[in-house]
Amino acid sequence: MSGNHVIGMEINLPVGIEKDGVIYKKLTLDRKRGVDDENMSSSECENNGQKASSILLRRAIQEFPGILERKPNPNQLIPEDIVLEMTEPDRATCIVEILSQYPDAVTTTTIPCQQQTCDLSYTFSTNKKDLEFTEFDPDVPMQFELNDGVIINGTECFICELRLLTGLQTEELGEIGKINAKNLPIIQTANLFYAIKSIDGLPITKDVIRNMTSDDRIDLSTYIMKNTPGYNLFIEEKCSCGGEVIGVIDVANFSGTRRKTKKK
Ligand SMILES: [Zn+2]
Repeated sequence: MSGNHVIGMEINLPVGIEKDGVIYKKLTLDRKRGVDDENMSSSECENNGQKASSILLRRAIQEFPGILERKPNPNQLIPEDIVLEMTEPDRATCIVEILSQYPDAVTTTTIPCQQQTCDLSYTFSTNKKDLEFTEFDPDVPMQFELNDGVIINGTECFICELRLLTGLQTEELGEIGKINAKNLPIIQTANLFYAIKSIDGLPITKDVIRNMTSDDRIDLSTYIMKNTPGYNLFIEEKCSCGGEVIGVIDVANFSGTRRKTKKK
C-alpha cells in the first residue's frame, strides 16, 4: 500500500460519541480528495468554514466502530447527524489529521491584538508536532468562576458550568459569523451562550451573557480556549503595545509540500 490509495488512517478522538453508555473514540479517515474540494466549494459552505468541515468529515470518515460500519463506497457521505453530534474538539482533531498529511504541513493563523485602540495583528505558523494533545476526562467538571458575576433572577451568580460545543452549534456559530463578520462581540455572545450549561445551577439566556462584564467575558472565553481537549490550539502572546494577542489556531488552513512519488 502506498501514498494516495491508502484509505484508513486510524485515529483516536479526544472526546468520542456516547451510545448506550459506551463512548466510542476510534475512527478511520481518508485523506482529502477532489470530491471533497468540490463538496466544500458548494454555495452552502460559502463563508461558513464549519459547514465545509462537516461535509469534509462526512466524506472522509470511512468507519466509526460502534457508530458506523465501514462504508461500501469511500465517496459516500455518512449521515449528517453523526458529524453534527460530534463535539468541536473531535471535529477539529479529524480536520488536523486529514489535512496534515505531510510532515512539514503548517497552518497559518492571523490574530488581532485585543486592545481596541490597536490595529496590529500577528500571524502564526504551526506544525502538528508543536501541538499538545489532551484527552477529555468526563469525570472532571468543566467549571469557571466569574470574577464580577452576573445577576440571574435577582441573584448574583458566579459559577459557570461549561460544556463542549457540538458540530451543530459550531455550524450555527459559523452562520452567525458569516452575518456578523465584523462584529466579534456578537459571535462571542453566541459562543458563550452555547458553551455555558448553567450559572450557579440556573439556566441562562443570551441577555445573561450580554449583561456580563466585558472582563468576565474575555476571561471566560480565554479559559474555554485554553482548556479545550484534543490538540491545544490556544495562542497567547503579548502585542508590542502591551495588549494581549489571544486566539485559536485555524485548523482548516493546514497544508504542506507534496513529496514527489518516484516512478521508474
Ligand atoms: Zn496591540
